[in-house]
Formats: sequence, C-alpha cells, structure tokens
Amino acid sequence: PIPAAGQAGPAPRRATVGVDVGGVTVGGGAAVVVQSMTNTDTADVDATVAQVAALHRAGSELVRITVDRDESAAAVPRIRERLERVGVFVPLIGDFHYIGHKLLADHPACAEALAKYRINPGNVGFKEKKDRQFGAIIETAIRYDKPVRIGVNWGSLDQELLTRLMDDNQANGFPMTADAVTREAIIQSALFSAELAEEIGLPRSKIILSAKVSRVQDLIAVYRDLAERSNHALHLGLTEAGMGTKGIVASSAAMGILLQQGIGDTIRISLTPEPGGDRTREVQVAQELLQTMGFRQFVPIVAACPGCGRTTSTVFQELAEKIQADLRKNMPVWKTKYPGVEELKVAVMGCIVNGPGESKHADIGISLPGTGETPAAPIYIDGKKAATLRGANIAAEFEAMVASYIEQ
Ligand code: SF4
Repeated sequence: PIPAAGQAGPAPRRATVGVDVGGVTVGGGAAVVVQSMTNTDTADVDATVAQVAALHRAGSELVRITVDRDESAAAVPRIRERLERVGVFVPLIGDFHYIGHKLLADHPACAEALAKYRINPGNVGFKEKKDRQFGAIIETAIRYDKPVRIGVNWGSLDQELLTRLMDDNQANGFPMTADAVTREAIIQSALFSAELAEEIGLPRSKIILSAKVSRVQDLIAVYRDLAERSNHALHLGLTEAGMGTKGIVASSAAMGILLQQGIGDTIRISLTPEPGGDRTREVQVAQELLQTMGFRQFVPIVAACPGCGRTTSTVFQELAEKIQADLRKNMPVWKTKYPGVEELKVAVMGCIVNGPGESKHADIGISLPGTGETPAAPIYIDGKKAATLRGANIAAEFEAMVASYIEQ
C-alpha cells in the first residue's frame, strides 16, 4: 500500500502470535529481532564459542548454529556452558537437516541446551518416513518446551508436494506459471507443516515460519501470500543473497519492502563472507536496515554528505567514518551509562551548502570548510551554533566534543 499524500511511515505491523525464543520474543507486536548464523564447524567448540560471542556482541539477538552430526550435537551443551561462563546468554538455535529427529533423540543435552529447533520440511524425511520423522522433532520440542522454526527453502523444497502441484497445474491447462507453482509449493509446505505440528500438540505460540528464496520479487510475493494466509510469526531472509554490495542491496530491497508492509518479525541477512571477511557484517547490515527504516535504534545515526567538487579534502569522510566506528565501539558501555544514547544524531558535513542546515537538525554537527571557504568549522549543538573549530586538529577536537556531549 502507498501511504496517502502527506503521510509517512510503514503499514501497521501484521498481527502475529508471539513466540518466546529463550527469553527473546519474536512476533506478537515485539520489535523486529536481529539474528545471524555461524559458519564454524559446531563440533569445534572454541571456534563456535568465539563466533557466537562476536555475533552477539555485534548485536545479534539470536544465533543459529548447524547441528549436522553426532559430534556437533554433543558439542552444543559445551558451547552453551562456555558462552555462559563468559557472560554470553544469547539464545542458540539448532539448524537441523535430514537427521534432526535422530540427533535430538540421541543427544538430550543438546535438545535441552538449544532455545529453538529449525526444521526444514523439504528434507526431514521422504515418503512414509516424512511425517514420522517430522513428528518426532515436534514431540521433542513439546517435551523440552522449545519453539521451532519451520524453515522452507526453495533449494530444498519438498519434491513430492512440488510434483503434485505441477501435475495439477498441467491437468488444469497451465493456469499458473512454473514459478508461481513453485511459490505455491513453498507456501503450502510451510502451512501444512505448521498445521501438522499443531495437530501433534505444539501450540502456535511455539511456531515460527520462514519461506526463503533467492530472488527479490519471489521473496516479496511468497511472504505477502504467507502473511495473508496465516498469523504465524515470520522469519524473513533472502537465501543465497550473494556477496558484497549485491547481497546487501538484494536483502535490503526485499526485506525493506516487506517490513514497510508490516510483514516480518525477525530478520537474518545472509551474506556470503569475503575470504577472511568479518561474519558480524551481516548483523551490522540487519541493524542498519531496521534503523534506517525507523523500526529500531541501535547506534547513533551519523549523517554525512557524500562530498563533491566543493571540497578537495577527504577529512570530513574520514571523520564521519571514524565517528561512526567509535560510536559503535563505545555503544555497549555507553548504553549502560547513558540510557537513550542510541537516539543521538550526529552530522558531519563537507561544506557550507548543506552543512549548517543538516548540522542544526542533528544533536551535534560539524560543517567542515569546503574549497575556497574560510578555514573554519562551525559546530552546532541542539540546533544552535556552539563553537567554531580552526586549525589542524579539527577532527580530534570534534570527537572530544561528541564524547563530552554524550557524557553531559
Ligand atoms: Fe558537496 Fe557541500 Fe553538499 Fe557535501 S554539503 S555534498 S561538500 S555541496
């Protein structure tokens, strides 16, 4: 829906049944939750503990880990314990494929240590084993009082269901395109599995759904349909989003549109890491998406101009980046000392054209001198000119003023 003229802001959040995941509420009107996933071998306890802790410290409110074999299932309680010893209490989600029913049955300490189980209905079992093995995981979830995410992915879609829908489509003279049938199969797989879980006895307040695809328009279409056809809490994610800017842009475009329409209770940005890249980048992107859209506030906003031919130096861009990095680094401590500090707005601008105006809109802002301008940088605090900086130490002096403003 397009907002009426003069109106701004997203559509009201879709009403969903809230799910408690180890103390973090997903859906039911709660703020959209940021989650991420490790890429370590879960059986490697040291590496997994380090990465979960890093993801959590970066802001991930839930962290998913792969549980693919006995060794990784056995490692899960040790990971949980080691994290708690270093003060990291982030809920852990176990990602199960193919043999989740068996791993959960054989490793009760793993079943207990996890805050949620992710089940993929496309590979939980085939033919007559499918419902039985799916049912076994649901019964474990009931026994340990854990929620589940029924996570459909078009890369591992239930082939029996897809074939049946394709056959029906053919028998009816192809009223739907093949892509539309695939999307319908994804949605039905999620909804039928949720229905089955509820029949077995898992309440809706323990079920989250996801239906991930890798194309932006398909993702939007699938989630809009899913949101219309159920009130389950929804996990959003564009699967195989890709590397670098492509992954960020594709995920932001797809999820931004859905969130604007009130759809989505938790998000994960799936970025393919660059070799040696920082896994926490996906958390930062998820936070920035939610923050730039006005859904949540994690770190102070730094408004910086892009720079142009009116400025010959990159001082202001370097300063903007440094201020943003310092604020992010100090935020965990500042948040405990200065409640509401994440609402701060800082402006770092490159010349007189938009500098003073943008700075006045911020809590604290600097307008650096552009080419040919008087070498002076006016500082604005709470909308009023508060000082003028000159000389070679403008950047350091402004940083000190930001820190002092936060303390005051
Ligand atoms: Fe260019 Fe000045 Fe605008 Fe920055 S504020 S983009 S330096 S005109």
